[in-house]
Amino acid sequence: MAVQKHLAVVGAGIVGLGIAWEAARRGHRVTVIDPAPGSGATFAAAGMLAPVSELYYQEEQLLALTLESARRYPDFLQGLGSTGHQTAGTLVAAFDAADRLALEDLRQAQLAQGLRVEQLTSREARRLEPALSPALSGAFLAPDDHQIDPRALSAALLDALAGAGAGIVRRRAAALARSGTGEVTGVVLDDGTRIAADETVMANGLGTALLDGLPASLRLPLRPVYGDILRLRVPQALRPLVRLTVRGLVRGLPVYVVPREDGTVVIGATSREDGADAPSAGGVYQLLRDAQALVPAVAELQLEETTCRARPGTPDNAPLLGRVAESEGDVPGLLVATGFFRHGVLLAPAAARVCADLAEGLPVPAELLQFRPDRFSTSMEGSQR
Ligand SMILES: Cc1cc2nc3c(=O)[nH]c(=O)nc-3n(C[C@H](O)[C@H](O)[C@H](O)COP(=O)(O)OP(=O)(O)OC[C@H]3O[C@@H](n4cnc5c(N)ncnc54)[C@H](O)[C@@H]3O)c2cc1C
Repeated sequence: MAVQKHLAVVGAGIVGLGIAWEAARRGHRVTVIDPAPGSGATFAAAGMLAPVSELYYQEEQLLALTLESARRYPDFLQGLGSTGHQTAGTLVAAFDAADRLALEDLRQAQLAQGLRVEQLTSREARRLEPALSPALSGAFLAPDDHQIDPRALSAALLDALAGAGAGIVRRRAAALARSGTGEVTGVVLDDGTRIAADETVMANGLGTALLDGLPASLRLPLRPVYGDILRLRVPQALRPLVRLTVRGLVRGLPVYVVPREDGTVVIGATSREDGADAPSAGGVYQLLRDAQALVPAVAELQLEETTCRARPGTPDNAPLLGRVAESEGDVPGLLVATGFFRHGVLLAPAAARVCADLAEGLPVPAELLQFRPDRFSTSMEGSQR
């Protein structure tokens, strides 16, 4: 094992908890700081682990990281309690002819990347999922896209961390503690308590840019991208409503229906940048309308919950992950893991591996430098780092 370190992880969303868990598994001492663990974007997330069906135009640079993270999931879950991990695959369906063309473009992009997708006739799609509407215009299967229950996973991670002796401090971090030479030596909490650490990991989502003591040149251009999402209970007579995760494009709008082991389904999600942090009536209407176009029996479910949270977005939709430079090189003792936007649940194992490696002084693979958190900072513009 590498020399034992003490990591202070600010933020107990899926990303911070994953980093803390990986560090604890490697034998390091860990303190996690969060006034309300699991209450951020993680609380809303559908939990799709979907590098294939989430392949977006102009986000291909993320593919290697999302695929690596998906591969790491089974090992990441070792030793955890129930997490709702399901590996049945994802069915992607098109509503009308224009949706079919758009999905065909996506399928071609997936094939060009060597990803596994299987085109389905309507009959084959309905044989897999009898509740699908007979009016759909096309479908394919992404067998390697899986899912997890993020609330169950964060609870399991918190339990496992407590069992491993990690400290869980339910307070807000107010500032980074820094030595006279600029090294980050830990965290100052909102009540003035100091927590000393060898490495401080900023994994507090949209809150990361708000801490005092960050390097003055560091620009973390995070923005909230709100998502409305619904939880519905499937009456016994209709179970299982669907067995696979069903994603669809309905008149150009994406929608998904994710089955949970407890007899509920998750229907999501809108994408809004209007700053409104409560569920939008129009968003809820749109989700129910479009989910029902894919799976008509959605109209017979019981609506249990409408939730809205903000995804931590970045200008290039890629995370801010790694060390940050100040005038004299990388700031010792500081790691950043934020900006995971739509992919934080999927990317948690990769973020955990990267941060634990960096904390142990292992070299950063060249392909990860593109995610450096300081890539938007003025002093880094035009640099090759
Ligand atoms: C509707 C919706 C659906 C989604 N679906 C998926 C999906 O299917 N698959 C997927 O991979 N991703 C999905 N995402 C994205 C995913 O939820 C996020 O990328 C992920 O949750 C980010 O995790 P995080 O730990 O960085 O941030 P968060 O989960 O937001 O956690 C940040 C934590 O930091 C804490 N915090 C903030 N400030 C401080 C402070 N000063 N001190 C201490 N703690 C602090 C907060 O209390 C919070 O617990 C979805 C997001 C939304 C909104």
